[in-house]
Amino acid sequence: MQNLWEDAAAAAQNGELELRVYTSRLLGRDKSLVLHGGGNTSVKTTEKNLFGEEEPVLYVKGSGWDLEAIEAAGFSPVRLEHLRRLAELPALSDPEMVNQLLTHQTRANAPVPSVEAILHAILPYPYVDHTHADAIISITNTEDGEARIREIYGDTVVVVPYVMPGFDLARLCAERFDAEAGPHTIGMVLLNHGIFSFGQDAKESYERMIGLVARAEDYLKRYNAWDVPPVADTLVKVEVAGDMARLRLDLSKAAGFPLIVSRHAEDKYLSFARRDDIASISQQGPATPDHVIRTKRLPLLGRDVAAYVEGYQKYFASHEPLAQERKTMLDAAPRVVLDSALGMCAVGKSAQDAAVVADIYGHTIDIILRATALGGYQALPAKDIFDVEYWDLEQAKLRKGGKLLPFSGEVALVTGAASGIGRACVESLLVRGAAVVALDVDAAVVTMKNGANFLGLQCDLTSETQFKQALEQGMEKFGGLDMLVLNAGIFPGGCRIESLKTEEWQRVMRINLDANLMLMRECHPLLKLAPRGGRVVVIGSKNVPAPGPGAAAYSASKAALNQLARVAALEWGADNIRINSLHPNAVFDTGLWTPEVLAARARHYGLTVDEYKKNNVLKTEVTSRDVAELAAELCGSLFAKTTGAQIPVDGGNDRVI
Ligand code: ZN
Repeated sequence: MQNLWEDAAAAAQNGELELRVYTSRLLGRDKSLVLHGGGNTSVKTTEKNLFGEEEPVLYVKGSGWDLEAIEAAGFSPVRLEHLRRLAELPALSDPEMVNQLLTHQTRANAPVPSVEAILHAILPYPYVDHTHADAIISITNTEDGEARIREIYGDTVVVVPYVMPGFDLARLCAERFDAEAGPHTIGMVLLNHGIFSFGQDAKESYERMIGLVARAEDYLKRYNAWDVPPVADTLVKVEVAGDMARLRLDLSKAAGFPLIVSRHAEDKYLSFARRDDIASISQQGPATPDHVIRTKRLPLLGRDVAAYVEGYQKYFASHEPLAQERKTMLDAAPRVVLDSALGMCAVGKSAQDAAVVADIYGHTIDIILRATALGGYQALPAKDIFDVEYWDLEQAKLRKGGKLLPFSGEVALVTGAASGIGRACVESLLVRGAAVVALDVDAAVVTMKNGANFLGLQCDLTSETQFKQALEQGMEKFGGLDMLVLNAGIFPGGCRIESLKTEEWQRVMRINLDANLMLMRECHPLLKLAPRGGRVVVIGSKNVPAPGPGAAAYSASKAALNQLARVAALEWGADNIRINSLHPNAVFDTGLWTPEVLAARARHYGLTVDEYKKNNVLKTEVTSRDVAELAAELCGSLFAKTTGAQIPVDGGNDRVI
């Protein structure tokens, strides 16, 4: 446990709220303390109201903010006296508590205050810090957890038994604090939940948190329960791509919508999933009320699959738009699958969501391993899990959930993705919510985009080995394949048939035709397992219906590809895979067309560059984005009943019409 406080940085903060922001961020930087919106902090201060009166205000972390990146605007100012009066009520329903929090803020556009606001209000210190520290939970989640906590902390902390977060917990904490707090009290441990520290200033409260958690870590180390080494991977490799796609289809069917499934096969996860006692230790309840886990074992992949963890959710959703999805998923879909061959698979409505799940369960594994080493992991009892699940407050928050994008939970693979039409296709698919595997022979594809939804891989498509490796990597990261955009191709310089070399002809065929056959063949078993049916888009060419002189190899390769696509449409219809082709023409914003080449071609036809660009029936310029948007739409619901179609994107061509 590292104390990150720096005097110079702290001195640069202006006032109590800025210091609150500063130490909140310090807590947020340590993922073993808080993770993805978990934990919360507050500061009590006074502010002059409109009538010139000094009014006590509690600034408490608002929902939707992560401590690591919180700003002053992320704290909700709530009238402190009102919160303290609320704490004296005998009972308060969760919806009414939220209503009270929202209607007693002093700033209408502040975020929704943390559900633990009343708890912060009743603690008689200006600064209050709260984390769900792994070390604390590892100790409290054992059979004699309370005794161990008392042994470690003596009279320096107040111990509170587990109660679901909300009004009842705030009241219980107030009671226990009044009864137990003494001159040495610097914190409060909530069993199966986390820890509070408090102090007169930001530094004191923060350093008490660090000191308290460090004592828990030391205790675990003393019992050899801190670093639980993983067993190295010894089993034979599984056929990942197929297993992942089958697993993803099962999970998506259970959820009722497509899901991203991300594999984690590092030693820590494999060795956890292969424990002899995995069935019992993974099937207990959640480590903390942050996580809701309903558990059961399901037969998957036709083998004795591993523990299966269902309905995994954080209730302090760090991203409001995800909240609705989480609720939906909680009803039907598992969030974590533990399999002795695959390791841990994290499940989400988006790659981002799956990454959050993986982070949280990664910490849960640490907690389970440490508690087990300490003498036996014991999670929350089933009744509390049920309570959390049907918690009014959460429901109220979830109702405000965001809108889903059309390709949420779906995976697309785009070839020739580093530039031009391919690159534009990546954009069009990402904005529709898809996770995208982008392949290109150009290494620039690897760093072309950031974000959980993107995987860029350098790949020479004429190498079957390279492609299979890339596909495997894509399946490990996202779990399946729904859409395939066959874009990669070359357009060699003009050459008449009488001078066309066999090697050149074969080179063009290899890239524009043969590689696509191989791709289609290798992707077919995965596209067949797409929850909403597979879609293939072929980026063809105007040269298919209207070939040009000097482009024999190109035109013939694209025409053959076109025929291949038509046969695929016939063969794959029964597998619910649609395949449609686009025929773009004169798309000049690609790597092929430098300003010089463009100017030369325009001169050749006696046109200005602008006239040349718009030399079509509609007198309009066709861009990569135009092609990409149509390619993405071809994968969407508008074209759900279309296969084997060929659509021009060329501004109208009098030789085609
Ligand atoms: Zn908490």
